[in-house]
Amino acid sequence: MKGEYPYRNTKNMKPRKTRKIHIGKVEIGGSAPIAVQSMAATQTQNLEATARQIEILEAAKADVIRIAVDSEQDVEALRALRQQFPDSVWSVDLQENYKLAPIVAPLVNKIRYNPGHLFHLEKEKTIREKVEFIVKAAKENDCAIRIGVNCGSVDPDYKERYKDDSVEAMVRSAVDHCQMLDEMGFENYCVSLKDSESQKVIEANQRFSKERPDVPLHLGVTEAGLPPEGIIKTRIALEQLISAGIGDTIRVSLTLPNEDKGQEIQVGREILKDIEEGRFRSVPENFLEGLNIIACPSCSRVENDKFVDLAQDVRKMTEYAEKYKLTIAVMGCRVNGPGETDDADLGLWCGPTRVNLKKGTETLGSYSYEEILGQLKKEIDQMILDKFPLGVGPA
Ligand code: SF4
Repeated sequence: MKGEYPYRNTKNMKPRKTRKIHIGKVEIGGSAPIAVQSMAATQTQNLEATARQIEILEAAKADVIRIAVDSEQDVEALRALRQQFPDSVWSVDLQENYKLAPIVAPLVNKIRYNPGHLFHLEKEKTIREKVEFIVKAAKENDCAIRIGVNCGSVDPDYKERYKDDSVEAMVRSAVDHCQMLDEMGFENYCVSLKDSESQKVIEANQRFSKERPDVPLHLGVTEAGLPPEGIIKTRIALEQLISAGIGDTIRVSLTLPNEDKGQEIQVGREILKDIEEGRFRSVPENFLEGLNIIACPSCSRVENDKFVDLAQDVRKMTEYAEKYKLTIAVMGCRVNGPGETDDADLGLWCGPTRVNLKKGTETLGSYSYEEILGQLKKEIDQMILDKFPLGVGPA
């Protein structure tokens, strides 16, 4: 199905004037078809499992496959995988370790860096010096770059400056990084502004696109969660943006067993085809007015394979509370889990043997994978009593 649909310039999709960039042999931006991408959910050093993920995503006809690296050992694993998949189009997620850029760039077609993660290493260097380092590696290896801003890890400076407007903090960070890349004479880049709330994704991308209509956009709702809610959240954002001519590549981020990861690509293409052909699905009445479960899609950082089962069990166990307006976040690792659960009423993030439970920003404790559901239920019951003493309406 790759490239089978034009995915733009039809009566239901306004044309967009972004510049064309290339990620290896895949073009995005301008009149190019909207590329559909996904990410390997396995630990990169588990060669057998990661190779299987790549096979699954290739079979689903992913245009671009993203893999995360955190260490030199991960890069070595990527090198071994590259021999097995010489023609695959790969994007690499540098996570917090921007220093890996020069050794990983020869193996991939795109580097994603998160402006909010650059402050972690080498604190004596400026952000600009670090960006220059990544740009140099990308230039020398003909890689594209994605400036990937994420709601859960916005650069602390911007978070502080735009305390009352989290969307503006993301947009300003992205616009400033674009300016840095422009000043460095690097044009082969795109931007993403992801949030777990569809409405914020819509707003952030609308604001950014107004300011930088030339820069291609990668769209996605982060931690959309399990199907079908995760699909609906993504569809809400994509319908609004793509029909307005905003968006050049997409990722549908779903919590799925590894063997089903190809569904992200399949669902992405279905949504694009529906928009192209004018099949807009109205959002079911009361959608997300009751219980909202956010779950990350899992990636190489996931700390325990039980994570997807846990997310599914949480949804099942919480069915009894579906009419209460509460948000529960379930995250797969200690790196992004603690920050990305802050805005939820109750948050769970996984460690190798225990699951941490939070109430807003407050940590309640850590529990074994067997105990956590019971503990979560106790907290939900208490929260229902506290917040909704008169029934489903807030106190
Ligand atoms: S929360 Fe952790 S495991 Fe989940 S997608 Fe984000 S980095 Fe990966």
